[in-house]
Amino acid sequence: MQARTYLRASLLAAVVVIVLKLLAWKVTGSVGFLSDAMESIVNVAAAAFALFIVRIAEAPPDADHPFGHTKAEYFSSGVEGLLIAVAALLILAEAGQRLTHPEPIGAVPLGAAISALATAVNLGVALWMLRGARRLRSIVIEADARHLLADVWTSVGVIIGVLLVPVTGWLWLDPVIGIVVALHILTEAFSLVKRSVDGLMDKAMSAADLADLQAILDRFRSSDMRFDHVRTRVAGTRRFVSMHLHMPGHWTLQRAANCRYAVEKALIEAHPGMIVTIEMLTSAQETLQEQNERQGAAQGEQNCPPPPAQPTPH
Ligand SMILES: [Zn+2]
Repeated sequence: MQARTYLRASLLAAVVVIVLKLLAWKVTGSVGFLSDAMESIVNVAAAAFALFIVRIAEAPPDADHPFGHTKAEYFSSGVEGLLIAVAALLILAEAGQRLTHPEPIGAVPLGAAISALATAVNLGVALWMLRGARRLRSIVIEADARHLLADVWTSVGVIIGVLLVPVTGWLWLDPVIGIVVALHILTEAFSLVKRSVDGLMDKAMSAADLADLQAILDRFRSSDMRFDHVRTRVAGTRRFVSMHLHMPGHWTLQRAANCRYAVEKALIEAHPGMIVTIEMLTSAQETLQEQNERQGAAQGEQNCPPPPAQPTPH
């Protein structure tokens, strides 16, 4: 069984689950069941969109996009986050309306049974996918399965809550369940939008990755070799790092290039796929860019060597 088979099966199961959950909402008129169905719809839409975007993001760099297409992921998370937020706001509006104008909900046992069936389908598919993920060692399938499992817990909470409404006679409980689910969906939306913004703003690598990077550079640091201006950014699955490598000016270019190569090799071995840019400089000289950033003005060409003297003809 291939990874794609699992993802397709999960999409198909999700459609069945959504139809059942909408049915549970239709027969009862419960806001709780509506919010549960909305959450499933949002999850499926997000999963389908992610599958589509992953294809674009995986495309190799081309002439138009020499750094690759990995930032496509941020469109995905940004759009997903906004859609999810809209779904949550719709539920909140419906729940607010129901809180101010309480209405009894009907056919609760039937609705709960339909919703329980949908939840059982979700649980079965999630466990089946978890086993597949372990066999294929696929984090994509595992993430999808874990998402389904989280969905199962939400549904169990909603079913119990809605079942309590006719038992207790608390009509407010149903919209309150809807509000709790909606708030949960909103936090998901917020983290998706944040991921998108972080990526578009060229956020640095995580603190753990940065510490790891410095540990690798420490292996090369000596009285002769100094690193500065280390900058990182993350674009989807791709990581970029650029830095200065300062070495004594009397070293031959070959010796300096060998050192630069060794550093690049160590970094790429530790972080496969990382794009490494190392600028070679002498111990005494900084780039004009760094001088400008430090002093806010160009320092002129004081370090530029004079052109070699022309031999005077006799
Ligand atoms: Zn420097």
